[in-house]
Amino acid sequence: ETSLYIVPTPIGNLEDITARALRILNEVDTILAEDTRNTGKLLKHFDIKSNLQSHHAFNEHKTVEGLIQRLQKGEKIALVSDAGTPVISDPGYILVRACGEAGIKVETLPGPTAFVPALVNSGLPADRFTFEGFLPHKKGRQTKIKELEEEQRTMVFYESPHRLVKFLEQLAEAWGGERRASVSRELSKFHEETMRGTLSELAQYYTENPPKGEIVAVVEGKKIEKKPKGNKYKYKDQ
Ligand code: SAM
Repeated sequence: ETSLYIVPTPIGNLEDITARALRILNEVDTILAEDTRNTGKLLKHFDIKSNLQSHHAFNEHKTVEGLIQRLQKGEKIALVSDAGTPVISDPGYILVRACGEAGIKVETLPGPTAFVPALVNSGLPADRFTFEGFLPHKKGRQTKIKELEEEQRTMVFYESPHRLVKFLEQLAEAWGGERRASVSRELSKFHEETMRGTLSELAQYYTENPPKGEIVAVVEGKKIEKKPKGNKYKYKDQ
């Protein structure tokens, strides 16, 4: 009796939609989308005729109550975003939380999201990591960078192409240019590219080759200096 489905959609390559996502999108009464024109194209491509409605970040608080009432009456709703998994650096968590409070079952389908392939492709440790999404653009940016200086886990960031060089330079300045990092651009698309190097190397590369398209940057966590383990020549008392 699930009424709300959170449905990931491709981040570029339409082949990445799952069979289950297509079935759910076909079965629901309503698909809530960030941008109905964008999602409209996706639905047209897959010949899905379900009713489409817009659900922007800025009207989320206002519309949640109405949506809960509709769900309680039995309407089946799917939430999608422009690309990837809703809620991940996209609107939706307020609706998920409200469903929880109202006792409405929510099912989130596994599927495309940009940070997972970027992290895996970075060649940096991924057993533990922190997803930072977009850094604040102006206010709070330096504070956040300072705050993350001591982070030991691999860090994943979303960044816009026109801010990438500044981003790499700011991190190099704050954390040292020798930190390893990786930049993945246009994942799953025709011009997909991953560049790995130090923060300084990448800053230089993208200064010379201004990037286009969508970007995920992955940065190594701070390495802790391992203290030498005692004296290896010390004898144990017999
Ligand atoms: N909900 C999405 C997800 O699951 O990844 C993220 C939405 S966020 C508003 C958009 C950002 O995701 C882009 O600015 C970029 O940083 C990243 N992104 C989305 N698609 C991408 C792709 N194909 N290649 C690289 N980064 C991508």
